[in-house]
Amino acid sequence: MQLSARSGRIAVSPTMKVAADAIKMKAQGIDVVDFGAGEPDFPTPTHIGAAAHRAIDANFTKYTANAGTEDLKRAIVERYKIDNGAEYSPSEVICSAGGKQALFNSVLALFGPGDEVITHMPGWPTLVEQIKLADATPVIVRARPENGFKLTADLLLDAVTPRTRGIIINSPGNPTGALIGEDDLTAVAREAARRGIWLLLDLCYDKLIYDPVPHNLVATLARHNRDHSVLCGSASKVYAMTGWRCGWAVGPAPLVNACNAIQSHSTSNVCSITQKAVEAALRGPQECVGEMLDEYRRRRDQLCQWLSAEPRIALTKPAGAFYLFPDVSDFLSPDGFRTSAELAAALLNDSHVALTPGEAFDAPGFLRISYATSMKELERGSQRILEFLATRTGARAASH
Ligand code: PMP
Repeated sequence: MQLSARSGRIAVSPTMKVAADAIKMKAQGIDVVDFGAGEPDFPTPTHIGAAAHRAIDANFTKYTANAGTEDLKRAIVERYKIDNGAEYSPSEVICSAGGKQALFNSVLALFGPGDEVITHMPGWPTLVEQIKLADATPVIVRARPENGFKLTADLLLDAVTPRTRGIIINSPGNPTGALIGEDDLTAVAREAARRGIWLLLDLCYDKLIYDPVPHNLVATLARHNRDHSVLCGSASKVYAMTGWRCGWAVGPAPLVNACNAIQSHSTSNVCSITQKAVEAALRGPQECVGEMLDEYRRRRDQLCQWLSAEPRIALTKPAGAFYLFPDVSDFLSPDGFRTSAELAAALLNDSHVALTPGEAFDAPGFLRISYATSMKELERGSQRILEFLATRTGARAASH
């Protein structure tokens, strides 16, 4: 079948394949431990759901302004003022169907043929695919495992050429949980401002950082490159609202207007009921976020402790998000499992543990383990992983 050249340039997210296989096995009644999910296992906090019920009861069920209600846009800028000390006006905000659409609108509005856009790997594959969908050229920089996958200014700025039009940064990053430091972002933002390069920040996990390290990226960009910066946020991960579909872009009004035009011809406004719920999330008590973060921290530490029983799993404790991204290359060999994709497939088929191979994030030799699941499941899953590695790769048996 003849499809467009554009659709030939992109592929379905490889993370979906593992999820689909796991779903199929579960449907057959197989007891799968699922570490594949890229979403919180917590229910959406009740006060957020209650706001949605109220919206339905009040028949708040019609089209809203394309870029979102004034109330929601105001709630977004107020959150950035309280949390980051950054001042934006509602006219600098557009609400979209998830952080994904906020990023996609921005990429479509800013980049086109001949433009180079820098982003980083291991990373979330959608960022690269969106650049390709805009007919621009992705330029990939590689964060190094020996450095905890930390993104540095040198790494990003070394990739700049006269054709660079944008840099997209995800921090905390999926799948590594790594952060870019304020100092590094300052250096990048100053150079970007000098060259007129756009900086897009994917802040989808920005409230999920475990230690009190300085990470006010919003204020850093507002100070050093405000005219060419877009902040893309999301309610999905922070408030356990992945299915509600709401994110936002905050940036200069002309860019927001262009995003608004694009969105007005594709999806229109975010679901009206969702908008009321997200407004309640942003304006309401924030303790729920801290409670979820505390639980993620407990799970991260416990999972690291369990998996450290096998010394050949090279672990780095993630600074943010909810993924462990161990190096498993010690278990790969030409006459055994040749790749982490093969290892992940065997773990699923034989030990019934679903996790995502590093290949999905352009990082062969690694596995992504989502710990957005209960402690009980983490215990069962890590036991299965350790047993699998001990019996199938010749490693010593380990137990806990
Ligand atoms: N950025 C990153 C790094 C993500 O992992 C995701 C979700 N997997 C998103 C953005 C988008 O999430 P949503 O569209 O649900 O806001």
